[in-house]
Amino acid sequence: MRGSVFSTLVAYLKDVLWALRSVWGSCLTAVPYLFGSGDLHREVTELYPDPISSKTPDDLPAKSRGFLFNDIDRCSGCRECEKICPARCIRIEAEPAADESKIWISVFDVDFSKCVFCGICVEVCGPNSLRHTREFEGASYSNNEMVTRFGRGWVSPEQRKKWAAMRRQIEEEDGVRS
Ligand code: SF4
Ligand code: SF4
Repeated sequence: MRGSVFSTLVAYLKDVLWALRSVWGSCLTAVPYLFGSGDLHREVTELYPDPISSKTPDDLPAKSRGFLFNDIDRCSGCRECEKICPARCIRIEAEPAADESKIWISVFDVDFSKCVFCGICVEVCGPNSLRHTREFEGASYSNNEMVTRFGRGWVSPEQRKKWAAMRRQIEEEDGVRS
């Protein structure tokens, strides 16, 4: 009985010592931080942009995925990227161009407020027109400003008629030759 009281007392004193040590350790960290002195004092919040420590595109890892860029001159308008995008943030509107073998991409919008930067669209892009840049700063107060537009613009009805006439003329010429 006496032995068990003694061992309980020892365990209790050990707990008290452990608690005091823990409080002392916390004070060693917190007090210099709170009062701004000593070697342990350090800033934990960085200003943004911090001219010294902020990341720049050059600091990023080689395979970083920044904002997308589409070289519309190389884009075939195949829509593979639009179909595979899990976030449904690519919108394409296209129609035949003057030359029937080509497509006029009126709209190619990427909504970066929805994009999860998974990179699947880049992987499926056959002509390699779509790729990630190393640009990552694009905060905005408006969702509309988060949409980047790469398209060539809507075709006017007059232009559409003109192209249709050109295509017919090419078809007729091909028919004469064959
Ligand atoms: S990176 Fe992913 S989420 Fe963003 S547009 Fe491409 S497929 Fe869609
Ligand atoms: S997958 Fe590439 S080529 Fe096809 S529509 Fe998208 S960006 Fe254009």
